Amino acid sequence: MGKNILLVEQDKSFCKLIVPVLEGRGHKVLVAASGMEGKGLIQKENLDMVILCAPLPDDNGFDWLTALRATGNKVPVTFIASSQPELHANKDRLERELGVVLAVSKPVIPFVFGAQLEGKISPDDAQTGKLKDFETMFLMLVSKYARMLPAKLEDLAVAINKSKEDPEDASLIAEVRSQAHKIKGTGGSLGFRQVSECMLFIEHAAQTMHEKPEKEQIALWADVDRKLVDARIMGEKEAQDVASVVSAKEGQGQAEEAPASMARILVVDSDDGFLDIVEELGKQRLVEIVRAKTFREALDRACILPLDAALINVLADTPDESFRLARELRNLPGYETLPLAFISASALVKDRVEAAHAGASLYLDKPLESDSLEKAVEHLVAIRTGGRPRILLVDDDEFFANTIALILRNEGVIVRILTDPNKILEVMQDFPPELLLLDVMMPGITGFEVCRMLRQIPRWQDLPIVFLTGQTGVENRLEAFRSGGDDYLPKPVVNEELLTRVKVRLDRARMLKDRSDKDTITGLLLRRAFSEQLAQLLADGQRNKTVFTICLLDVDKFKNVNDTYGHLAGDKVLAGLGQLLARRFRVEDLRGRWGGEEFILGFRRESKETMHAAINRVLAEFREMIFTGDDGQEFKVSFSGGMASYPEDGESVYELIQTADARLYEAKKQGRNRIVLSHQTDPEKSATAKT
Ligand code: GH3
Ligand code: MG
Ligand code: MG
Repeated sequence: MGKNILLVEQDKSFCKLIVPVLEGRGHKVLVAASGMEGKGLIQKENLDMVILCAPLPDDNGFDWLTALRATGNKVPVTFIASSQPELHANKDRLERELGVVLAVSKPVIPFVFGAQLEGKISPDDAQTGKLKDFETMFLMLVSKYARMLPAKLEDLAVAINKSKEDPEDASLIAEVRSQAHKIKGTGGSLGFRQVSECMLFIEHAAQTMHEKPEKEQIALWADVDRKLVDARIMGEKEAQDVASVVSAKEGQGQAEEAPASMARILVVDSDDGFLDIVEELGKQRLVEIVRAKTFREALDRACILPLDAALINVLADTPDESFRLARELRNLPGYETLPLAFISASALVKDRVEAAHAGASLYLDKPLESDSLEKAVEHLVAIRTGGRPRILLVDDDEFFANTIALILRNEGVIVRILTDPNKILEVMQDFPPELLLLDVMMPGITGFEVCRMLRQIPRWQDLPIVFLTGQTGVENRLEAFRSGGDDYLPKPVVNEELLTRVKVRLDRARMLKDRSDKDTITGLLLRRAFSEQLAQLLADGQRNKTVFTICLLDVDKFKNVNDTYGHLAGDKVLAGLGQLLARRFRVEDLRGRWGGEEFILGFRRESKETMHAAINRVLAEFREMIFTGDDGQEFKVSFSGGMASYPEDGESVYELIQTADARLYEAKKQGRNRIVLSHQTDPEKSATAKT
């Protein structure tokens, strides 16, 4: 639960640093720039915490707090002293007499301060396991960086000395600049603010050194040396701050807490022993298992808890019940595309058809092999993660990349890190991202160049590209947009800002893609988007030597429907069929509107025979659906279909569609309301079909 926090602080830049961290944690922050203003807000607002930064423009801070306590106000106060000595001189008094719950001194590391404060405002609630876990990991990263920092500064010192010895060598000064640049970005993002500022100075000096006359160069080098010394001292102090927070955390034993689960899977089985095994397995895989022993219970649970997948045991005596449950689950709002798996002791073909029809991504045989259940759980989680956003992060600084990846992964994003920008096309082929985070300064090629290159490739023209860089200045920002970038985030990165900007871009991109890929009436993929996915299916089939099947569907006598019941009723039929197709079959199967009243389906790794039976089941369901005409008349409709499989019926998308279309025509000729999966070669049958 977010709290109401009042920050009494005159320094605007400090507020800018702290407020996003607190707001990012869900708190509401009011800012008062003076003691007077603060007093007014305390009287008006119901506050959970006051953060007081001494001194104030109209008070030394101590007197302000003493006066507040004199009125009997007991609001928890966090005191930020302006320096370490000031803090030490007053710590006792602050904590004992003035009721201060947390006393620290500037400079503070915003993220660490946020964590400290959280412990004071809401020691138990508010912090979800996820956040605690994240914090522990983040602090580990920070303390690891703190340990590495002296060596990094040492390397920089060596680079500086080399460059001083040979000022004519441009590569040496470029090295100084590059090293300072990295420490500035990563260190700053991890909270080493003062170090980061020193690095900014050194980077700038290295950049402008060659423009200066020799005399000034000597003076500038001296300044660089001083900044380097400052950075070492500040780095040590900032590292100590981190260490104290980390050890305090360890003292609380937080590292042992169970991390938040990644997915929630409903398991339906009447056997408690089996449910126990699955639950244990779930714990190891960070999957939360929701148990249900009866179908009623399963539906109840599905309504209460948001599920990511369901694993259903097919009962030997009443298998149909299990499939009915699956269909009912998928009929619940929000569960249209719920990934499903079945476990069954009988390997009947009929059951497999039913399972495919009901939308099973997996069909497991009982008794289960030792690791098949484990694989099933993993598979279901993997299908679900298809729904999680994918971000490619290109940065040659691996440490920085890992930090950003950690922040994003904590929010459920799938992140791939690439440190060698030259491999970007290869990687994007294999891991098509929904958003690209791109560093600018990289060895060999700049981020701007990478962006320009990508924008020339049709597939990546709409990809959201966000630059992450330590290069500030108008010229660089302009260049980011000129090269085709969508946004620009300066390093050091503020976590909350990163997350917000990335989220906004992702949401927009998804919305636009959905809008351009999906048909509004049926909710299925449009022809172009379907074709793209079909090409992918073919590539997979060729690479892995696996089969796949497509099916073209066409509503029967649809012109009649329009003519007799009205165009609106016709649209309802299309929408109804679209919805039915979306709910049946596996989540990973493809469904599209090919045009007019024609639909197209694509089934990965499935033969014509299995899918023929499953589609026939859908046809039977569709035939039973009752539609109402514009004048209230009720009517029913059917469809016809033609199927084709790779590689049996064709080796290219074109051939496969031609074949499926010819078979659809055949189905119409044979009297409609049927699915044809092979050409009629039997002369007797084709003769009867003609008559
Ligand atoms: P068949 O069984 O041989 O397929 O006969 P049919 O009448 O379905 O085939 P035909 O291709 O002659 O007619 C298709 C009709 O579908 C014509 C067109 O007006 C209608 N149609 C195409 N798109 C839509 C749409 O989005 N909404 C509605 N209501 N009708 C559509
Ligand atoms: Mg038709
Ligand atoms: Mg047609």
